[in-house]
Amino acid sequence: MEIKNLIRKNILALSPYSTARDEYDGQIGTFLDANESPFENGYNRYPDPRQRELRSLIGVIRGVEPANIFIGNGSDEAIDLMFRIFCTPGRDNAIAVAPSYGMYEVAAGINDIEMRKVLLNPDFSLPAEALLEAADSSSRLLFICSPNNPTGNAFDRGEIIRVVENFAGIVVVDEAYIDFSDRAGLLGALASYPNLVVLQTLSKAWGMAGLRCGLAFASSEIIRYMNMVKYPYNINLATSENVKRLLSGPVSDQVAVIKRERGRLARAIGSLGFVEKVFPSDANFLLVKVDDADALYDYLIARGIIVRNRSRVPLCQGCLRITVGTPEENRRLLDSLNSYKRDDL
Ligand code: PMP
Repeated sequence: MEIKNLIRKNILALSPYSTARDEYDGQIGTFLDANESPFENGYNRYPDPRQRELRSLIGVIRGVEPANIFIGNGSDEAIDLMFRIFCTPGRDNAIAVAPSYGMYEVAAGINDIEMRKVLLNPDFSLPAEALLEAADSSSRLLFICSPNNPTGNAFDRGEIIRVVENFAGIVVVDEAYIDFSDRAGLLGALASYPNLVVLQTLSKAWGMAGLRCGLAFASSEIIRYMNMVKYPYNINLATSENVKRLLSGPVSDQVAVIKRERGRLARAIGSLGFVEKVFPSDANFLLVKVDDADALYDYLIARGIIVRNRSRVPLCQGCLRITVGTPEENRRLLDSLNSYKRDDL
């Protein structure tokens, strides 16, 4: 597959903005090139637009070459860039599984791209055939979120690969929650599939949602276009410094706690009389079907606990999505769930 043929013509023709910091590689001691303030306060200089240090650190952690890594202002930036690079507004279309993460559709709407949503199978498995059938000659992007938000399940790797192999556009596999899954993600498949883009984020397992740092992994050709189209200084200095500091944090211990708590919460919630089902989860949240989702949602709000009401989402009727918290937060949640209904008596 020729990736070049999928890129929008105006992007192929683009001369990207070249920043002051793009134009040197060596040792410079006096910076009079970028109209910055010369007075040191820690943040008076622009950050590295190529994010060389961060990309090499993340590359080591994920076993991926820096040339295959894009760093964005959250993975939301990478999602938006996919549309801006591959889709011509008003003409092309994109495909996504449903229900799934809402930003694919919002980014499509902002970019004036038709979004074709394909319902998951009733058991939440990947509807590979239906996804491929939804495509036509104007389909440029296909989004698969695995583990999926809000259903929580990871899809069968062979089924995802089948879609990647048979879709004549870019397949974006969003692995925001992959660190909570026992299944391997698709980073290892990148070299075999030039049309595959894998998204990950530092917002979940890595504990850095407030810093806004998302990752895209893809062929060096796609990454080059992403870096051309992004804002030159999309990752600010404070984010970059804090990410570097926190990348060596106790992430795997914290993921182990979340996975243990997830199992404990699932069993405890599943035993409650008003709970119809707790869906198996490969993520850091549980999708829970209850007898009256709106009533339970309001009850929890009144007790100072907010969860996500997904009861109006297709295939999720009656469902709340509950993030796994600290053991103390989960105890508070269970205390409230245990007193729900009993308070009515
Ligand atoms: N993908 C999925 C599946 C998500 O659930 C989220 C956030 N809820 C994101 C991407 C966005 O993550 P980020 O904070 O990196 O923008």
